Amino acid sequence: MPSDLAVSRSAVLEPLDHIAAGMGLGDHLLEPYGRATAKISLEAIGELHDRPPGRYVVVTAITPTPLGEGKTTTTVGLGQAFGVLNQRGVIAIRQPSMGPTFGIKGGAAGGGYSQVVPMEALNLHLTGDMHAVTAAHNLLAAMVDNHLFQGNRLGLDPHSVTWRRVLDVNDRHLRHVVTGLGGRADGTPRQTGFDITAASEVMAVLALSASLQDLRARLGRMVVGYTYDGEPVTAEAIRAAGAMTVILREAIKPNLMQTVEGTPVLVHCGPFGNIAHGNSSIIADRIGIRGSDYLITEAGFGADMGAERFFNIKCRTSGLVPDAAVIVATVRALKAHSGNYRIVAGKPLPEDLLDENPRDVFEGAANLRRQIANVRLHGVTPVVAVNAFPTDHPSERQVILDVAAEEGVRAAVSTHFSDGGKGAVPLAEAVAEACEEPSEFRLLYADDLPLTGKIDTVARGVYGADGIDIAPAAQRQLDSYERHGYGNLPVCIAKTHLSLSADPTLKGAPRGWRLPVREVRASVGAGFIYPICGDMRTMPALSSSPAAEHIDIDGNGNIVGLK
Ligand code: ADP
Ligand code: MG
Repeated sequence: MPSDLAVSRSAVLEPLDHIAAGMGLGDHLLEPYGRATAKISLEAIGELHDRPPGRYVVVTAITPTPLGEGKTTTTVGLGQAFGVLNQRGVIAIRQPSMGPTFGIKGGAAGGGYSQVVPMEALNLHLTGDMHAVTAAHNLLAAMVDNHLFQGNRLGLDPHSVTWRRVLDVNDRHLRHVVTGLGGRADGTPRQTGFDITAASEVMAVLALSASLQDLRARLGRMVVGYTYDGEPVTAEAIRAAGAMTVILREAIKPNLMQTVEGTPVLVHCGPFGNIAHGNSSIIADRIGIRGSDYLITEAGFGADMGAERFFNIKCRTSGLVPDAAVIVATVRALKAHSGNYRIVAGKPLPEDLLDENPRDVFEGAANLRRQIANVRLHGVTPVVAVNAFPTDHPSERQVILDVAAEEGVRAAVSTHFSDGGKGAVPLAEAVAEACEEPSEFRLLYADDLPLTGKIDTVARGVYGADGIDIAPAAQRQLDSYERHGYGNLPVCIAKTHLSLSADPTLKGAPRGWRLPVREVRASVGAGFIYPICGDMRTMPALSSSPAAEHIDIDGNGNIVGLK
């Protein structure tokens, strides 16, 4: 199998106006950025409005290993497969952050013959949306500090400032910094820190906005800190929201790309899966649904994380109703869920994970069963995709198919990584059947359930916890949010993605544990409250051998080593 970069480079790209025309988008709606990418004008939403909507399919997964189990790759393969079946498939994914691209995980363009191309463009800068988010976020940070410096008219308590700075680099040394060092003219020293750009509330706001005006309003609602009297201070009060919107006026437009088979791909936004909802934008989905028979959109991490937030945050906000959910499962990850292997984040997977062992797959399938239940809890029809790796043994794949059959769920082995769209045709057929079932989509909780009740509902109903333990400080924060009128927002629970529980070492479907809520923060502009459960880092770091060490330019000026 050639490398992902080699597959991407040998792809023959179709002109983007052909790709757009396939979605019903005229030339006048395209704003080209180079040869391989174009922004789509927001007028597309209005122009496509009379077209019948396609089916809305979310791709989620079992609880993954640290390497990812192929959601993006499967999303791309499935979109391509609909093309093979002469249906219009459109794909919607997040833009990868450059932090992980140069860190351990590598890029996020899919893989093998199910890739978004050119993968270099996707994984590096693209049309600069990430930088725009960084600039908008940091403008607000500068205006907050300037407000304090220029007399602090609002009475903002410097110790309460929650608005940090962001950068799209994995850099542990920026987690805690002191700003304002120097003389009187250089500001007042204050301890703060950096998060990765994907973790910025601005990124979550952009992904959940319906229009430029909605973006403006949401940015204005973002809370940067509290006054000495404990009242929230917003970006509107700092008078930054207008300028931030101006910085983001291009970033709000989705980016159009294509797969190696010429399937349209909408790439837009990349909210952090840990502390934000981890889904691509509502605007891209709106356009994609009207321009397709099937819109395939990816939700980050396992179904307990990305899909739960897709349902309860993204769909709650957009009003769009999903028709089916694909749960990506791999032999290696289900084996890991047996708990019989030592998996360490940041290290390669253990070698004995490749030995034939159908019993371990069966044991670990407890995780798959739970994630199936999580999708059904929302009234959505699940389909299991067995993402085939060359190292799988047939007996092991069969176990996954048997478990799916036992649960009464459609399932297919999918070889899109090595075969492209035709390898995902059985999966696409299963998805098409699932979409014909009547959708009984329901949100897990009502807006007016108090925040504590919402956290408890997700913890018990989705994670399988016995209950929740709220630390006293977290309880005070919850009380304060209810008092300030934020109690009707949905919750975005920040916990590890490597377990259904809050402890990354617990595999399978752990029972007999409680969810510890250490701290609670509010993303009022994005429109969710996020309880923090367990250790949660918002600025990743580089490992002892980061991918960056292997990335270079060759003698012909081509990129090498990008994964
Ligand atoms: P996710 O979106 O779930 O994080 P990705 O689709 O990005 O996962 O895949 C993670 C990594 O695994 C990528 O490097 C991808 O190329 C690789 N990969 C995915 N599916 C396969 C497969 N079937 N065979 C080999 N490698 C795969
Ligand atoms: Mg992905």
